[in-house]
Amino acid sequence: MPKSDLEQIFSAGGLLAERLPNYELRPEQLCMSRKVQDILNESGILLVEAGTGTGKTLAYLIPAILSRRKLVVSTGTKNLQEQLFFKDIPFLKKCLNLNFSVCYMKGRSNYLCLRRFYEYLKQPLLSERREVRYLELIKHWGTNTKSGDRAQLDELPDKCATWHNVCSKSEHCIGQKCGYFEDCFITKMRQDAARADLIIVNHHLFFADMAVRGQCGG
Ligand code: SF4
Repeated sequence: MPKSDLEQIFSAGGLLAERLPNYELRPEQLCMSRKVQDILNESGILLVEAGTGTGKTLAYLIPAILSRRKLVVSTGTKNLQEQLFFKDIPFLKKCLNLNFSVCYMKGRSNYLCLRRFYEYLKQPLLSERREVRYLELIKHWGTNTKSGDRAQLDELPDKCATWHNVCSKSEHCIGQKCGYFEDCFITKMRQDAARADLIIVNHHLFFADMAVRGQCGG
């Protein structure tokens, strides 16, 4: 990809200017984007420090998408992860008019474990009165959800004992021996990630995965 394509996108009359009101060319942003593109074309490590307002997210996302390589983007916070997935990437899909697939990966405890869920429903043990309401919510949602992602349950508090009993945990997972393995939300998330061009994770998940692979020698 010639650098002139980045200039066309970032220039004052370019693709970003067409879609972003009050857009201004920021030389630091274009400079960072060129550096990211170079490192993607070659190989190695690039460390970039750029001030607030540089537009770092677009500066790395645009060359990443243009590279047409399979890439993992790891963010420092879950909020930034959400911003990329729900805002910046949909914007760039339209702006660059490129078709590419994206997978948003969260830690496994964000997902329902179907095996634990159906086991728990047989004999729920509720520690507090309010958990009765949470159990009803999870029960109704859990039998219908397509993603198994607890973010769909707005009403569920962060600390919810019932969720703790039905979410996916590596120490409770029996992998391929599980009768729900094919329908499992973790299995599906991994299959989506294997197919995706761009995978959005956070540092916590990324480094936890590296640690597990390190222990397994994988
Ligand atoms: S494969 Fe693991 S996470 Fe998935 S439903 Fe079975 S036990 Fe739960």
